[in-house]
Amino acid sequence: MGISWSKSSQAFARAKQSIPGGVNSPARAFTAVEMDPLFIERGTGAYLYDLDGNQYIDYVNSWGPMILGYNHPHVLAALKDQLAKGSSFGAPTEVETELAELIKEFCPAIDKVRMVNSGTEATMSAIRLARGYTGRDKIVKIEGCYHGHADSLLVEAGSGVATLGIKGSPGVTSNTACETIVVPFNDQPAVEQVFTEYGSEIAALILEPVTGNMGVIAPQTAYLKFLRSITKKYQSLLIFDEVMTGFRLARGGAQELYNIAADLTTFGKIIGGGMPVGAFAGKKEIMDYIAPDGPVYQAGTLSGNPMAMQAGLATLKELNDSQKYQKLAELSQQLAAGIEKNIAELDFPAHLSKVGSMFTLFFSKEEVKNYHDVQNCRLDLFASYFKLMLAQGIYLPPSQFEANFISLALSKADLEKTIAANYQALKQLR
Ligand code: PLP
Repeated sequence: MGISWSKSSQAFARAKQSIPGGVNSPARAFTAVEMDPLFIERGTGAYLYDLDGNQYIDYVNSWGPMILGYNHPHVLAALKDQLAKGSSFGAPTEVETELAELIKEFCPAIDKVRMVNSGTEATMSAIRLARGYTGRDKIVKIEGCYHGHADSLLVEAGSGVATLGIKGSPGVTSNTACETIVVPFNDQPAVEQVFTEYGSEIAALILEPVTGNMGVIAPQTAYLKFLRSITKKYQSLLIFDEVMTGFRLARGGAQELYNIAADLTTFGKIIGGGMPVGAFAGKKEIMDYIAPDGPVYQAGTLSGNPMAMQAGLATLKELNDSQKYQKLAELSQQLAAGIEKNIAELDFPAHLSKVGSMFTLFFSKEEVKNYHDVQNCRLDLFASYFKLMLAQGIYLPPSQFEANFISLALSKADLEKTIAANYQALKQLR
């Protein structure tokens, strides 16, 4: 195809001299697809541009936040305005309350929101709060769900951990890991068994209600309702990690889509509009257990940072319009229909798994219900597919264990180009 990535490769070689693995987050290293990562120079709308000047239609969305596309004019204006006033004060600002109020409006199960700086901090803090509030130590997590890199959650995690094929991480003590009980996704009997055995010791069950970090997998009918009722029965908290799904699957996230109210919810990504952010939120009586009013300590120098709050607020204001979700649904449907037609025409052993504007093309004909099933996908085919798409100007997440995202900046023509590229790639791989 004649596409050159030489400047990215040079930049990567240089970065490796000063940064471990050349990247500041492992998934960016393109390890699973066995090539040097692209170094990005800029983004605009639905497109990314690398150091070699190549343009890509982007389905990574900075791993989720950029639902409006890059450099959205309202987000840009809000950031410029705030920058002129000051980027951080370490004191309360009104924009923090405004963003918290809008999150509450979108998610009726939430009374109070505490802002933090990343999804990792959000889930780590939610777990501490759940333990403090219930006075219990154990947590239940789902195999293949990724909740960031806090010790107690770095057990059988998805995303980069799955991509690198590791179960946990050296440095997480066995004492910490043994308080985390892992069960497969979409497996009600496994959860039932764990609660029967340990119910009175379980502080919380945490999950991605729709998984993104082992690829996109929908919860089976009644699974989330079952989790809601069993956690209630044992007075454990149900934590929905909506760092990825929040404000993406619907205005009120997975909780709106499946009509379930979690006790605690974690956010990140979209609520920062591309700036570093996270939040945990829930019912008043639980959230008031946090310092300074309550005994569970949690803090942050840059928490509620006004730049992040402004970018998040501008993003959520754009999303405060059901037509935006309708448009996302239409774009997602167009892409899915095109890819599914290609698969059928070529009789290719793959299938598309999609919920809202999140999707994964699994390189397996069989249905994927959990982490075990994802392991059966043809990871070698995925790697080749990724490279063939990249060479045609389509930027996808560089691992089978990730979600692709549709942004509102995509045009129908972008989707047609993607569908055509998908056809060419699958045809070559047959
Ligand atoms: N939870 C989920 C569902 C995520 O997808 C991620 C990151 O991808 C996290 C938590 C961690 O967020 P962060 O990378 O901002 O720490």
